[in-house]
Amino acid sequence: MTEFKCYKCHKRFNVTEWMWKCDCGGMLDLVKEKVTFTPKSIQTNLPTMWRYYDVLPFTSVATTWKSITMGEGFTPLVQLDDDEPNTFVKVDYMMPTLSFKDRGAAVLIAKAKELGITKVIADSSGNAGTSIAAYARRAGISCTIFLSDSTSPKKIAQIKAHGATIRSIKGNREDVAAAAQQALKEEKIFYASHIYNPYFYEGTKTYAYEIWEQMQTMPDTLIIPVGNGTLLLGAFYGCKELMENGVIERIPKIVAVQAENCAPLAKAFFKNEKTAKPVENAGTLAEGIAIAKPARSAQILEAVRATGGEFITTFEEEITSARVALADKGFYVEPTTAANYAGYLKYKRMSDEVIVIPLCGAGIKTS
Ligand SMILES: *Cc1c(COP(=O)(O)O)cnc(C)c1O
Ligand SMILES: [Zn+2]
Repeated sequence: MTEFKCYKCHKRFNVTEWMWKCDCGGMLDLVKEKVTFTPKSIQTNLPTMWRYYDVLPFTSVATTWKSITMGEGFTPLVQLDDDEPNTFVKVDYMMPTLSFKDRGAAVLIAKAKELGITKVIADSSGNAGTSIAAYARRAGISCTIFLSDSTSPKKIAQIKAHGATIRSIKGNREDVAAAAQQALKEEKIFYASHIYNPYFYEGTKTYAYEIWEQMQTMPDTLIIPVGNGTLLLGAFYGCKELMENGVIERIPKIVAVQAENCAPLAKAFFKNEKTAKPVENAGTLAEGIAIAKPARSAQILEAVRATGGEFITTFEEEITSARVALADKGFYVEPTTAANYAGYLKYKRMSDEVIVIPLCGAGIKTS
């Protein structure tokens, strides 16, 4: 049986629609029966992340997802260029709403639909809100997205296009989350949060499955941008499942990248702390990872440490020039993705070290 388990006090709960954190304030994780995966179980006729249906949190007879998928996932994995034959980019901006968030949103909204949900709330720095809005609309679920009034206008336009109600909040990312959570107190609404809802990570874990299938092995290192950790934790969970099933022998080293101007996790990592203390966001172009108070900080730090990984922070000038450098190779990305590439450029690799970096968000999402 599937249950929620509090990361902090380990209490277990039946999965209900309305619960999004533990009474103690701790974050919820999904406890599942052992996920079994064999390469043979891949539905190779599906050119999407749903080819790993067997490891997704749906029963074998469930069909709701079929009317909700927009073909997300199974994104290209390509060599960066001939000069760097051991570096591969996973082009995760090739998604219905142009960011990797579609992996999580597709699973989360399919699950919400299955539960009979008719209305959802989410808060976001932009891309998660866009993704939730798009899938909710497709599922016929009404949707309210809380955003900071400083969100990129192009992302706001994208959300509006999907008919979501926008609640623009004056203040920082934490004020936006607080406003959404206040609304949840006033009305019983499903919290389609990419941060709190454990089902989102069931979607992002396909990132790891795809890399494994595309390489027929795992790289030495995954370099991943991190704000709230939805891709990082998803990748880690996916790797863990692959290892538990004997498909891989070890989990790649996870190198996490943050913007120097908003790097609570990197700071905690270097100070050997178990959780991150909130920081003041000093302002960064990398809006997608500008998270001053990441709710799953303990899990993110634990995951990076468990893989023998590390943190890298990048400066604003490095982000700007990394965006130009990627465009010079043909890839037009948003600044948050450039921040991750800048982290890669600073990373001291070993000779022959095989590295995969995600291109998380498309360039046209921002100016
Ligand atoms: C959401 C996002 C990130 C960061 O993901 P987290 O879950 O906050 O760690 C990075 N890049 C892009 C383009 C994003 O949309
Ligand atoms: Zn608890």
